[in-house]
Amino acid sequence: MKKITIVGGGASGTLLALNILKLGSEVPVTLNLVERSSRLGRGVAFGTENELHLLNVPAGRMGAFADDVGHFHAWLQERGLPYGPDYFVPRVLFGEYLRSIFATQITDGTNGVQLNLIDDEAIGLSPNSASADIILRSGEVLPSDKVVLAFGNFDPPHPNVPDLGFTAAPKYFRSPWDRTITEKISPDDSVLIIGTGLSMVDVVIQLTARGQRGRIYAISTRGLLPARHKLGYTYPSFYDEISGRARITDILKTVRRHIRNAHATGSNWRAVIDSLRPHTQQIWMDLPTNEKRYFMQHLSRYWNVARHRMPAEVGDVLDELQKYGKLAVLKGRLKDITYTDGVFDTEFSVIGEQGNIRTNAIVNCIGSECDYSKLDSGLVRDMLDKGVVCRDELRLGLNATPDGRLIDCKSEPSDIIYTLGTAMKGILWESTAIPEIRGQAHALAHRLVRE
Ligand SMILES: Cc1cc2nc3c(=O)[nH]c(=O)nc-3n(C[C@H](O)[C@H](O)[C@H](O)COP(=O)(O)OP(=O)(O)OC[C@H]3O[C@@H](n4cnc5c(N)ncnc54)[C@H](O)[C@@H]3O)c2cc1C
Repeated sequence: MKKITIVGGGASGTLLALNILKLGSEVPVTLNLVERSSRLGRGVAFGTENELHLLNVPAGRMGAFADDVGHFHAWLQERGLPYGPDYFVPRVLFGEYLRSIFATQITDGTNGVQLNLIDDEAIGLSPNSASADIILRSGEVLPSDKVVLAFGNFDPPHPNVPDLGFTAAPKYFRSPWDRTITEKISPDDSVLIIGTGLSMVDVVIQLTARGQRGRIYAISTRGLLPARHKLGYTYPSFYDEISGRARITDILKTVRRHIRNAHATGSNWRAVIDSLRPHTQQIWMDLPTNEKRYFMQHLSRYWNVARHRMPAEVGDVLDELQKYGKLAVLKGRLKDITYTDGVFDTEFSVIGEQGNIRTNAIVNCIGSECDYSKLDSGLVRDMLDKGVVCRDELRLGLNATPDGRLIDCKSEPSDIIYTLGTAMKGILWESTAIPEIRGQAHALAHRLVRE
């Protein structure tokens, strides 16, 4: 009997389990899917219940299977939900979709795979010569021939200021996914959001929808908002012009030239960026480490706003809020945050000038912590201490082969421990969204079951 354990039942873990069940096995397989939150298939992205939190990929491209990207849209239609393939639908529906197709697969048959859904937290991993034991918080031990770490997104780090005393204040929210934000922040509170990416957008929309009267500020070092989606444009692939290039500035020049060409020929810069998507992982893997570092330091912010875009209607809401002074987007580097008598005083600097904002609440939207040595996770700490996993050289996730075999501290790729999704960011760069995760889940399922 082959035993496979998946740690994490967010989108990645659920998609992997689904692929294994679909594929089936001729030899008996036990599949353990361990999720600590009792919210299988949801995770942080699809766990929101707020209908205003929209997907940032059109419904027609969010299918669970790489060979049927329209599957999610077909599912919406079967339920009579009035969304076209170009709609950005509430994320909660995608969570329902994952749970629904997973349940259907279980009803249709698990094809020789015995599935155990385990409502618990994995807190340790003990390696054996050709297997590993996963230790659960309940004390149960899961002997496993193969382990997949699908633990996804972790809480953001606190803001980088000298005194973190303010983090104990009741209206400091370490994570934008905290479900008590609208309950604890009153409509008249002024709010500072640290970070100006898509999570900031979620928080602004959530507060506005329930009638926020207090002013909202959002700050980041560049003050850049995500670009808006504009659908309906295409651009031919020019990957052959950048394939194998080892300098990021050469690649940038080529991309800029194509953006100019796109505008001259009636297309759009977004289509140029999107045409790179199938090749982004290869482009990243071909770059030497110093070029990847250069990208992270100087270009990644611009890439992120161009690549991770918001639906246009959401952009319209943000414009209105800024026009009427309800939202101020600031550019600045945080210097200090203090908290006295219900008020946060945040000091920041921008090109030598000092500024300060006084607010009643702070929501941290810096983005998931990716330096695994700083994570508040017993399992990760245990694995790093034992040297069975280590961080990638850019500290964006874990070191692994491009197909997801984790590499230990002696640089040996494992035949037992695998990962997919966010932990692969340092290796593949583009590895956090469903279009990438569904491909990884499909390939990994084949490898785990058929090898
Ligand atoms: C706010 C937000 C919006 C997004 N929107 C989109 C979108 O519109 N389209 C898109 O394609 N992508 C989107 N993404 C990207 C998103 O990260 C992925 O699509 C996907 O949700 C990642 O799923 P995951 O399972 O890898 O991680 P997660 O969603 O973080 O799930 C990981 C799961 O593992 C569990 N877990 C962790 N550690 C343990 C442990 N030790 N024991 C047991 N369980 C554990 C957690 O409880 C969690 O349920 C979004 C991301 C965020 C943060």
